[in-house]
Amino acid sequence: MLKIFNTLTKKKEKFDFLFTEQINIYVCGVTVYDMCHIGHARTFIIFDIIVRYLKNLGYKTYYIRNITDIDDKIIYRAKKKKESISFFVKRMIKLMHEDFLCLNLLHPNKEPRVTECISDIISIIKILLKKNYAYISDNGDILFSIFRYKNYGLLSRRINNCCFYENKNINNSNSIYSKDFVLWKRNIGSNEPFWTSPWGPGRPGWHIECSAIINKFFKRKVNIHGGGVDLLFPHHENELAQLKSFKNDFFVHFWMHSGMVIIDNNKMSKSLSNTVSIRYLLNKYNPEVIRYYFLSTHYRHPLYFLEKNLYLSKNILEKIYMSLLNCITNFHVKANYEIKLRNVFINKFYDAMNDDFNTPKACLILQKLSHYVNKIKKSNIYLANVLAADLVKLGNILGLLNYNPKDFLFTNKNQSSSQINIIEILVKLRNSYRINKEWNLADIVRKKLLTLGVVVEDHVNSSTYRFIN
Ligand SMILES: [Zn+2]
Repeated sequence: MLKIFNTLTKKKEKFDFLFTEQINIYVCGVTVYDMCHIGHARTFIIFDIIVRYLKNLGYKTYYIRNITDIDDKIIYRAKKKKESISFFVKRMIKLMHEDFLCLNLLHPNKEPRVTECISDIISIIKILLKKNYAYISDNGDILFSIFRYKNYGLLSRRINNCCFYENKNINNSNSIYSKDFVLWKRNIGSNEPFWTSPWGPGRPGWHIECSAIINKFFKRKVNIHGGGVDLLFPHHENELAQLKSFKNDFFVHFWMHSGMVIIDNNKMSKSLSNTVSIRYLLNKYNPEVIRYYFLSTHYRHPLYFLEKNLYLSKNILEKIYMSLLNCITNFHVKANYEIKLRNVFINKFYDAMNDDFNTPKACLILQKLSHYVNKIKKSNIYLANVLAADLVKLGNILGLLNYNPKDFLFTNKNQSSSQINIIEILVKLRNSYRINKEWNLADIVRKKLLTLGVVVEDHVNSSTYRFIN
């Protein structure tokens, strides 16, 4: 049975939901003020694997990842670029979607933008005010009172470090503590965007947006709430405080956090200028190499980013694809054929994944299976084909081995003139499918072009293309 490490209890716990139950998954998404970086890639690849794996086990998943499309950094960047906020945000979301599509991330069931949920946010703040969990501060902002929420600090175990307790005055429940956080930021006549509210014009604080989106789409229950470990405090602590104060019976079963990406012994951050964009990696490496690289470290561990290790992942994947070369993998295998041997690999793969998504171990099983395919290719091609088919199926669960081996092994990322010709032929072919409304075929060609690092842009009667850079 699947066991998942729960940040709340600090234990691996059984994931024993019924298959008939909808599994609600919420992952805090991107604040779209810049290109997405490898920290995003790591977090979203991990939760992509989790959704894929749960589906593979037979669960019905409902996955939501929000987009923060209003915040100080967005306002600052848009001004700096001399773009309107809406144009800037749209451009950033488009770039984000391109990155995620190239990384083969499953699109969430819903991807709500904060600015589409303002009325939901206002409704929650109204109730928090009514229940005295929130108050209007002297400057007109609405703050959440962590004094009122008795379990503050339980999720992140920050209780002792929290200055709230240092300043605690049990006789005065209306005291303002330095960790009280903003639910609604009042507009003080600046040019910043604002929305009307019962408390005057303003905009929501960051933490309330996730609580409002969760309440809107999931009501009382989230089975898995995920995000990077840097969001645990204060963001997730605050999200939980808001939701529990709003609805006492609200429940998150599993809090999951992916580890940090460390570059040159420092946490990756914009202020240290040590960020690496997803786009940079996509320009140099096949998306499956990037995915394999991230899966080679357990999701809860810190990942010490070293570009040379991407070459190792590339070599490993090439060897796996080499073993698949000339094998037939898309055929019906008799269920019991060599089942004992096949189960050695299959069971070990599932054991690894059931142990809190141990992807490094699961990747190792793929390598071992690939060695075995190579070993028996000459003596028993039928068995080699059967095991190769198993290898592809297991790889697919991790979002890997989606390419034809020849395409993976012999497609160069640098486009030569002959490749440009091929790309142009494919774009024309796709356009003709579009005109004939053969959407499935058009989509197959579009995906093929993506694997060549080409994004197609559709116009009324034609399509143009550009390389991802
Ligand atoms: Zn969030």
